[in-house]
Amino acid sequence: MTNRLFIAGNWKMHGSLQKNAALITDITSKITRELPVDVAIMPPFPYLAAAALLLKPSSIQLGAQNLYLGQEGAFTGEVSGAMLHDVGCRYVIVGHSERRTLFHESPELVGNKVKAALDAKLIPILCVGETQQERATSQTEVVIALQLQAVLDVIGGQRFAELIVAYEPVWAIGTGLSATPEQAETTHAFIRGWLIKNQVAEMQGIRILYGGSVKPENAKALFAMPTIDGGLIGGASLNADAFIAICQAACALQAAGK
Ligand code: PEP
Repeated sequence: MTNRLFIAGNWKMHGSLQKNAALITDITSKITRELPVDVAIMPPFPYLAAAALLLKPSSIQLGAQNLYLGQEGAFTGEVSGAMLHDVGCRYVIVGHSERRTLFHESPELVGNKVKAALDAKLIPILCVGETQQERATSQTEVVIALQLQAVLDVIGGQRFAELIVAYEPVWAIGTGLSATPEQAETTHAFIRGWLIKNQVAEMQGIRILYGGSVKPENAKALFAMPTIDGGLIGGASLNADAFIAICQAACALQAAGK
C-alpha cells in the first residue's frame, strides 16, 4: 500500500486576475476527469477567492502560501488561517525556505504557524530542507531534524500526523538544479525514519513531497522513488502544459500501483 500522490503548485508572487484565469482555465479544461492523485494550486492571497470560484467545477483544490497566528486581530498586513479556510483553502504552505530566509521566520514561529493552520482546519504543508553549505558540511539530517522537532514541540505527535511534509533542498529551489531521485530518496527515507522514531507516523500515512526544480522531464523518476509521495512545484506550476505533464506522471505511477 502506498500513499495517494499529491501534486501542489506554489505560484509564489506571480500572476494577475487575467493571467490566473487563463492558467486555471487551461489546466481545468485539460484535467477533466477525476484523478487518482490529489492536485492543488496555491496562488497569492488576493487571488484566492477568484481562484476558488474558477476551481469549483474541477477536482483541483486550493491552498495558500503562508498564514499568520490566531483568527483575527491587530496584525496589519497579515492573513489568518480562518480567513484562508473561509475563502475555500484546504492547504497552506508553512515554513517555505523563502519565508525562513527572506522573512526571518524562526523554527518556533513555523511551529506556531503549523498549529494555527491545524486550528483553522487547514492541512499544513510543512517545508524543510538544507542549504548548499549545510549539505556540503554533512548537516542535512541535523538541520531537518531541528526543523521537524520545532514543530513537534508545539503540536505534539498526534497532530503532526495530520501534516504533509515537503522536503525542499534550498539549493534546488528555483535554480534548475534538482536533487537526483537517489539524493531525494535518501533524505525522504531519513524524514520517514525520524517520524517513525518520534512516533508521529507509521511507515505510510504522512505524505512527504519533494520540491526543487521538478519538471516534466524529471517528475516520473522522482515520484517513482519509494518514499516520495508527490511534489511541491514552483516554476513549472505556472505553465499549464508543464504542470499537467507533472500531474500525468504522478497519475501514471499511481495507476501502475505506486
Ligand atoms: C518551491 O518554491 O517550492 C519550488 C519547489 O520551486 P521550484 O519548483 O521553482 O524549484
